[in-house]
Amino acid sequence: MNQLANQVAVVTGAGRGIGQAIALKLAAAGADIACVDLKLEFCEETVQKAQALGRKAWAFAANVSEAASVTTAVEQILAATGKVDILVNNAGITKDGLLMRMSEADWDAVLDINLKGTFLFTKAFSRSFLKQQSGRIVNIASVIGIMGNAGQCNYGASKAGVIGFTKSVARELASRGITVNAIAPGFIETAMTAKISPEAREALLKQIPLGTLGQPDDVADAVLFLASPAARYITGQVLPVDGGMAM
Ligand code: NAD
Repeated sequence: MNQLANQVAVVTGAGRGIGQAIALKLAAAGADIACVDLKLEFCEETVQKAQALGRKAWAFAANVSEAASVTTAVEQILAATGKVDILVNNAGITKDGLLMRMSEADWDAVLDINLKGTFLFTKAFSRSFLKQQSGRIVNIASVIGIMGNAGQCNYGASKAGVIGFTKSVARELASRGITVNAIAPGFIETAMTAKISPEAREALLKQIPLGTLGQPDDVADAVLFLASPAARYITGQVLPVDGGMAM
């Protein structure tokens, strides 16, 4: 069912992992896709796969943490697509370390990409969402932003920030027909979690009631729901997709 027919979705960090799964899920539901990643070539595979589904798809290079880069990319996106209906702020990184060993640079990098990047992209598209009196914004937070995790104080702070940002902006934009929600994935099989040691993975699985790591598609299904007409009356919410970790 093409529930997103004639819609345009922007997905940041769409080159691989969860972002690629989101882009392709939205494309399969009928949306044309603007893929954003650090380098144009990172988007190549996602663009080709979205086009193979019969959609228009474009690649844009941007560093979500740099205001000038975001401004340029957003201008290019609107010029190419004509309009945007759905924004998924997915680009994110980890730079783990215990508090006492956490460098200022690692703190700043994670906050700049995960939190400031979400702010910059949301602000940049809000003008056109306000003008058209519609829009769906889905921010990818994390279960760590709800529960915390030893060794991830920068990441946990950035994702808790994304949740607070989501709720505040949802209140600001609700009267204009724009919804803003967050998804809090648990541990999902991607390059980000491939670094986890076998011992840590074993310990992790004990914390997941459903007993397995999630797949990028599990997150993408939740994004599709929040971007679809079925979620028209939902805003300011955080939907965990975590196998029951944070209940
Ligand atoms: P990933 O590392 O596989 O992919 C991240 C993508 O973002 C890459 O394509 C990368 O090039 C891009 N990116 C990184 N920095 C960028 C920047 N400054 N500007 C533009 N693009 C940038 O990661 P993933 O596992 O797919 O994670 C995607 C999102 O989901 C992140 O926000 C992450 O925090 C969140 N998340 C992941 C998990 C998990 O278990 N994998 C769990 C919870 C939340």
